[in-house]
Amino acid sequence: MLDYDLIISDVDGVVFREGEPIWENIQSIRQMISRGKKVIFVTNNSGFSRVLLSRQLNYVGLDVSSNDIITSALSAAIYMKRKTDIKSVYVIGEEGLVEEMKNFSFQLFSSTDVEVKNPDSVILGLDRLSNYDKISAGMRCIYNGSKFIATNMDRLWPSKDGLKLGAGALAAAIVYALRREPDFVAGKPNKWIIEVAMELASIKDLSKVLVIGDQLETDIKMGNDIGADTILVLTGISTERDVEKSDVKPTRVVKNLSSIL
Ligand SMILES: [Mg+2]
Repeated sequence: MLDYDLIISDVDGVVFREGEPIWENIQSIRQMISRGKKVIFVTNNSGFSRVLLSRQLNYVGLDVSSNDIITSALSAAIYMKRKTDIKSVYVIGEEGLVEEMKNFSFQLFSSTDVEVKNPDSVILGLDRLSNYDKISAGMRCIYNGSKFIATNMDRLWPSKDGLKLGAGALAAAIVYALRREPDFVAGKPNKWIIEVAMELASIKDLSKVLVIGDQLETDIKMGNDIGADTILVLTGISTERDVEKSDVKPTRVVKNLSSIL
């Protein structure tokens, strides 16, 4: 543990489970921070603003600011700004995604706007207030040439009321309709996020980076793909049985984070 300078931690399934704090993990992360480790929280959730999420983390005793958080919305915005010539965007998503698009000065097209002109891109994240017309309008823009950006392709979202459709399930409606994949998927398992996190923390040496998460297909795959060490913590979705069955193998599997200190 002492060898790592940057810890990239997931939020859901590591810090919170269905909104409830997971204290054994939180205490360990708190100790890492107090020992001077840089901890950056990475979440595929695009709906939350980073400011609100940092307050939630502060509330359970984690001393982090909004600059220590990378959502899939931020990851998408940084990518679009640096790697593409996208200037305008039609958003299918919630507050956090809209806010990040505004922070990066993209011109937001409304549903009325897209009836008369095509935006450079359509970005789709989890949108729990979305409807048929909104997703159809996004599909039509993409059909007419807008770039198709997805915040993440998570199939499911474990809510307090049980499993719900993830952002990827909404994106899949457009994928299926147009028989075309998104041009860019910003969230985990895209290792782009680790590159952004390393840049934020001014760390260049991958051997100093540790990725912690509860899902093999997103957190652990992302870390493995870039060559960082990974810890699967069994406080969330993936189980020991999943590890046996999967091709994605973490460096370590732990019941909770208290055993890694
Ligand atoms: Mg998770």
